[in-house]
Amino acid sequence: MLRFSQRCESLKSSSIMEISAKAAELKLQGFDVISLAAGEPDFNTPIEIQNAATKAMADGITKYTPAPGFLTLRQAVADHVTRENDFPVEPSEVVITCGAKHALYTAIQCLVNPGEAVLVPTPAWVSYGAIVELAGGYIIPLPLLEEDGFRPNVERWKGMALPSNVRGIILNSPNNPTGAVYSRDDLMKLVSWALSRDLWIISDEIYEKITYDQLRHVSVASLGPEVKGRTVTVSGFSKSHCMTGWRLGWTITEKDLAQKISAFTSQSISHVTSFAQMGALTAARMGHGVVDKMVSEFDARRQYVASRLDKWSGDVAYTMPHGAFYFFVNCSKLLSRKGVNDVQMCRDLLANQHIGLVPGASFGSSGYVRLSYATSMENLHRALDRFEDYLRT
Ligand code: PMP
Ligand code: GLU
Repeated sequence: MLRFSQRCESLKSSSIMEISAKAAELKLQGFDVISLAAGEPDFNTPIEIQNAATKAMADGITKYTPAPGFLTLRQAVADHVTRENDFPVEPSEVVITCGAKHALYTAIQCLVNPGEAVLVPTPAWVSYGAIVELAGGYIIPLPLLEEDGFRPNVERWKGMALPSNVRGIILNSPNNPTGAVYSRDDLMKLVSWALSRDLWIISDEIYEKITYDQLRHVSVASLGPEVKGRTVTVSGFSKSHCMTGWRLGWTITEKDLAQKISAFTSQSISHVTSFAQMGALTAARMGHGVVDKMVSEFDARRQYVASRLDKWSGDVAYTMPHGAFYFFVNCSKLLSRKGVNDVQMCRDLLANQHIGLVPGASFGSSGYVRLSYATSMENLHRALDRFEDYLRT
């Protein structure tokens, strides 16, 4: 019998991608589906970035590029991060990757051996588990509690018996799915614990530009040279500059690991699309205007969703998100009233109310649903009306 590799036996597609695809399929069949499932800005990529990529194609920038990306782009990303994230970056520490997802994938491939573990504060983004498993490793979830505002509380983890083969920890602030933004103090405590255990820190900062309530994102690598030397910073322009489809992100880490990540890139995808890199070069050099405008629109939507959820406090509860564009809604009362779990509820809501939401189980926390407000106010209004109908039935 023809067989697949063991590593692919239990491999599944991203559940978020699957729900989004299902919603799109229903739409094609003529149903008026509103998807609050996938987390991607609903705005188009800024015109300056589009023009830069189009011009690059016309100018013949359509050939292979260096594996870690054009040096001009790595320099521009290094300057951008040095300026905005409060830590010094050299171009030799930057590798341009196929989105933040592939940045995480290559970093984990370069750091984790089969049988080794990676700590993941949970609830956590859906792909961390699969990415670690594809390297032959496994994840150990560390609880993030609603009563702590889903922020890390190292005291809760100190008593946990952890094996000696833990290689690293994946951090994500601003957080998907909870919207929590970790403070400098949270990070200092967490990082000193991680360093005392000799761990690599993989810091997924893809939502770094999307924060509210005057909170400012703190980069883990800005906590000092020792921390920077043990950190892989993962980020990109997918969320901040509405470039999800461009597949462009980066890793920033110390030179030896950066070289391995570059070699891995060279042997797998060669490099990121040449003209997409030229679009990103413009993004790296742009001012904040576009991002600020988008964030203030997200903020208005955030307030609107909160005002609707507040009316249903007998059924649902939430912790106000301070970053990204998600609510992680605690539906435990509603679920027990309806006698279903979060997966079944999301299935029902898509099939009957035609709204797409992602079950908390996908993020390792049953009893919740994730709602993305990266969609128009009108869509939010209509989707929440439909959710209200569901609550009434
Ligand atoms: N990390 C997190 C937490 C995400 O939510 C996502 C998806 N938006 C990614 C990484 C991957 O981002 P990209 O689209 O740049 O690959
Ligand atoms: N990261 C986005 C989300 O969390 C898109 C899904 C994915 O990349 O798998 O919705």
